[in-house]
Amino acid sequence: MTALPESDAAHRETANAPGDPGARLLLRVGDFVEPLTRFDRSHLSMAESRHDVISVMMRQTYRAVFEVGRSEGFGALPEGVAEVADAAALARESEAQLAASRTALAAKLTAWAAEHGEDPLAKPTVADCFVQLPPLGFVDLCKTCNATGLLICSNCKGAKEFTCETCNGRGALDCQTCEMTGEITCNTCKGMGTVITQKEKKHRNQVTGQTQVEHYQDSQPCAMCGQSGKVKCPMCSGYKEVTCRTCEGRKMIVCAHCEGMGTEKCAACDGHGKRHYAVSLTCSIRETFDTTTRTSDAEIAATLKARGGIEGILQLASSHRATAEANNDTLARDTMASIPVTSIAIGVGEGTAAIRGYGERQDVLDYRNIAAMLLKADMDRLDVAGAGTTLFPPKVTDELHAALSDVLASEANVAIAMAGAKADADETAREFRGAIAADYVKRAGAAVRKGLGRAYWAALARGPAAVLALPLLFAPVDLLMRGAGGGARIAMLIAFMVATFGVAVIGHVLIVRKLQAKLAPAGSPRIRPIIDRLGLTAAWLITAGAVATMLSLIVAGLVSSLFPSG
Ligand SMILES: [Zn+2]
Ligand SMILES: [Zn+2]
Ligand SMILES: [Zn+2]
Ligand SMILES: [Zn+2]
Ligand SMILES: [Zn+2]
Repeated sequence: MTALPESDAAHRETANAPGDPGARLLLRVGDFVEPLTRFDRSHLSMAESRHDVISVMMRQTYRAVFEVGRSEGFGALPEGVAEVADAAALARESEAQLAASRTALAAKLTAWAAEHGEDPLAKPTVADCFVQLPPLGFVDLCKTCNATGLLICSNCKGAKEFTCETCNGRGALDCQTCEMTGEITCNTCKGMGTVITQKEKKHRNQVTGQTQVEHYQDSQPCAMCGQSGKVKCPMCSGYKEVTCRTCEGRKMIVCAHCEGMGTEKCAACDGHGKRHYAVSLTCSIRETFDTTTRTSDAEIAATLKARGGIEGILQLASSHRATAEANNDTLARDTMASIPVTSIAIGVGEGTAAIRGYGERQDVLDYRNIAAMLLKADMDRLDVAGAGTTLFPPKVTDELHAALSDVLASEANVAIAMAGAKADADETAREFRGAIAADYVKRAGAAVRKGLGRAYWAALARGPAAVLALPLLFAPVDLLMRGAGGGARIAMLIAFMVATFGVAVIGHVLIVRKLQAKLAPAGSPRIRPIIDRLGLTAAWLITAGAVATMLSLIVAGLVSSLFPSG
């Protein structure tokens, strides 16, 4: 299915190809199907053959479409835009660009058609139809702000600041602490002007000889207020008024809206003072493709339509002729292609398959399940043989081996098995170019998995599975080795586990050889990779490893508890 064998086959064909197209197509089908199945081409017989040359008419159109894109924004024109005076001039100039491009287009299309019109694979590009012109634009000054970008502040009307409302523009407020007297009552003398202190004097009574205490008041002038009873107001320092906190004595408050600028940004032009308007002419090409197949055979018409573009159809054509015609804005090309189509009915067993070869190389786009038809009888036999077997207890028959051997003799079945269970059946079917349909892929995958699995497990059960009992021998050995010490006992236990696993591996190798000899004694296909791919090797080795470990540990535990060494 790769390119190489395909071209090899084509080579061989031309070397000694029969003259009859039907016989040639049958040979080609045989070349493709034979390697997939164990059946040679004698199982394919030609019942009917016909050769036609189908005319396909293809029309390609390429229409150039102009579009005027508009853009606008604040400020001056962007770089690369050619400036015009105003909106009217822009409309005029833009219209002139479009008219000139249209006139040029008709001439360019005509010239292109003369040069490339007869080549169906050539397509006109935008560069072939249109020369990009510079975009045009004009600038409009902002009337709202007289192109300054600024407006008088809506809050202060340009005054920048307001008279302070707290102090009414005085910058100061009456002092509340001294009620505008500039003085407060002296705190030291409480307004008395003098300070009175309690004092005591001690003297000895001459008669009694005792010490007596005499209390008296001492009056001193107040040093704080100099006997006036009043001190300077600490709040206003005697000035009778305090600075206004709101304006901090400035008498005015700055306008918060314009931050003292007196102006604000013009919203109409975002402060740019102007707006620009630009237009740009662009060209694009709209493409259409249409086919008309001149045949009464709907299947041929549908197959050719499904080829998609003109390339796919021309690949099959033996000859083609194209003519192109240009009008004002459209180039239309008509290509008439002649496609040889060979149709044969192939008898496969009791059925028939209608196969078509397209083009001079007779490309078979769909092999119509023809290989699966050949393989069906083998698969039926494997299903019947599989029904006579069981997984538990493992039981197989010679008939299963014989049926499996036939199934694996066909390369397609091996390829399906090797693709694995997770492979997409539709994808695998596509790789077989329709020679094997998706439902056969699913069926064969499941049948080989089941059949080879049963054969493998049954062969294991008949011999190698017995090695799993090997750990039982650990019991007598363990008893004989009493006194050799705990370390020696553990080493012996591990040796038993490893030996059991090793024998399981050897058993697997022998079984695979046995199956190879039974199913494909000539050596093809190789059974080992298929068994690996189906996961049987991993399943057996994991089982053997787990059983060897667990059984060894159980036996060791039983020996210890039944025959305590102490
Ligand atoms: Zn403005
Ligand atoms: Zn303001
Ligand atoms: Zn103030
Ligand atoms: Zn005082
Ligand atoms: Zn005061």
